[in-house]
Amino acid sequence: VNKLSNSQTKDMSSAVFKVMGAIIIFCIINAVSLNAQPPPNYETFNRTQKISHDFEVDDLMRIWIVNVGQGDGVIIQMPEKYNYYMGDEYDENSQRVDILIDGGSNDANNAELIGKFINKLYPESDPIIEHTVITHHDRDHILGIIDIAADTNIMLKKFYHNGLATYKPGIHDFPTTYSSNLNAVVSYNSTTKAISRCMAFYDDDGKLYDRNLIQNLSQFKTESNQGNFKGDFADLAKAVVDLSQDNSEITYNRAFIGSSFIMDDYEEFDVEPPLMEIEVIWPADTLQRHGGKSWAKTINGNSVSFNLKYGEFEMLFNGDINKSAQKAQHKYFQQKDKLDILKCDVLKAPHHGSDDIWLDMYDDSTYLPVVTVASMGEGGFSPTGHKHPRPDAIRKLGGFHRFFSTYIHEKTFNWNKMSESTYKGMLEKTRNDILIETDGNWFRVVEVKRNADPNFPPQVEETRRGHGTLWINAKQGD
Ligand SMILES: [Zn+2]
Repeated sequence: VNKLSNSQTKDMSSAVFKVMGAIIIFCIINAVSLNAQPPPNYETFNRTQKISHDFEVDDLMRIWIVNVGQGDGVIIQMPEKYNYYMGDEYDENSQRVDILIDGGSNDANNAELIGKFINKLYPESDPIIEHTVITHHDRDHILGIIDIAADTNIMLKKFYHNGLATYKPGIHDFPTTYSSNLNAVVSYNSTTKAISRCMAFYDDDGKLYDRNLIQNLSQFKTESNQGNFKGDFADLAKAVVDLSQDNSEITYNRAFIGSSFIMDDYEEFDVEPPLMEIEVIWPADTLQRHGGKSWAKTINGNSVSFNLKYGEFEMLFNGDINKSAQKAQHKYFQQKDKLDILKCDVLKAPHHGSDDIWLDMYDDSTYLPVVTVASMGEGGFSPTGHKHPRPDAIRKLGGFHRFFSTYIHEKTFNWNKMSESTYKGMLEKTRNDILIETDGNWFRVVEVKRNADPNFPPQVEETRRGHGTLWINAKQGD
C-alpha cells in the first residue's frame, strides 16, 4: 500500500478547496443574479417602462387576485384619497374602501382563504368591505363569500349580482320532470328526467324572463325565508339575509349595463367625484341564455362584468364570461359606438384562462391588454380537469411574460416550443397572490408570496424575471 506523502496530501486538499471554492462562488453569483435581477423591459408591452416610480401614497390603488384555489377572489383597495369615512366613525385601518369580487373556491377546504387574506390586509381591526360583486353564483365564486358572511368578523355592506338564482323544482311554475318542450334553463337527470334545479324560463328569442330574477334584498329575503332556493345558492341567501337582520346598510341589487353601481355612492356621500369610473359592461338589462339550454354556459355568459378606469389606467373584470357572451357584448357596444370600453391595460382573464373565451378578439391589437392576470387552482390546472390556462389563450394574449396567474408561472418561456405537450415542463407551481398597483398614471404587476405580509409587497428591484413587471406607463404612446 502506497502511503501518500505530506506534500501530495496537501496538493490534493488544496485542489479540493479550489474546486469547492469555485462551486461556492458560482452558486453565489447565480443566486445573486437570480434574486436581484429586476424584470426586463419588454418591447412587446409597447409602453414606456421603468424600475422606480415615485407616487403619492394617497393615490395608490391595489388590486389583488387572491390565491383562493380553483375559483375567483379579487379585492380592490381603493386609493386612500377616495375614502368615504373621513371622520372617526371607523378606525384608521378600515377606512379604505374595498371592493370584493367573488370569493372562491370550488374546494370547500379553501373557502376560508379569502376571509383570511382580508384579515391579513387589515390586521388591526374588523375589516369592512363596502362593495361585494358576485359575478355569478357558481360554487368556485361564492363559497368564500358565504364563509365571510356567516363565519367571520368581516363586515359586508352592498352586494351586486346578475339576478340569477337556483330554485328548487316545483317552485314558481318550474316542473319537477324534464320534457323537450320546456322553455327553461334547468339541470336534470338524463335517464330519469327528474329536474334537480331550476334557473329561469326563456322566450322564443332566448331572453330570460325577468320574473325569475332576483332584483333586490326584500325579494331575496322572501324567497329565502320560503325555502325556495337550492344548494350553494340557498346557503348564500341565508347568510346574506341573516346579516341583514342587524345591519340596515346591506343591499342586494341586480347589476346590468346602465344600472346603479359602486361609484354612485360618491354622490350619496357628497365626496368630490374621483378620477375613477366603474361601469358595468355585462350583462345587458335583459339576460340571455347561452349555449342552448346549457346551465353552465348560461350562468357564465351572464357574469357581471365591469370596466374600472382610474386616471389613465383601465382594467376589465369579466367573471367567467364565455365566447358567446363576449361576442354579444362586442356587438352591443358596437351598436352604441362605445367599443372603447372593451380596451384595457390589464385584463382579468375571463373564465380562469379557459379556451371558451373569444380569443380571436385579441388578434386585433386594439383589444390586446398589456398584461393579463388569471385565477385558478389545482383542480383547474389538472390534465383531467379544466386545463386552465390554455396555451392558446396565453399565446393569443401575448405570451407568458404578459400572463400572470395565482397558480403557475413560466420557468423558461420559449415561444417556439410552446405546445400542449411541452408547456408543463416550462412552468413552476407558485400558488402566489397577484398584485396590481397603480396611481392612475403608472402600474405594475407583482407576485406576492402566499405567506408574506400583503401590506409590504416587494419593490420592483426585489422582483425577478417571471415574478412581476417594471412600472408600466398606463398611457399608450408615451
Ligand atoms: Zn369559475
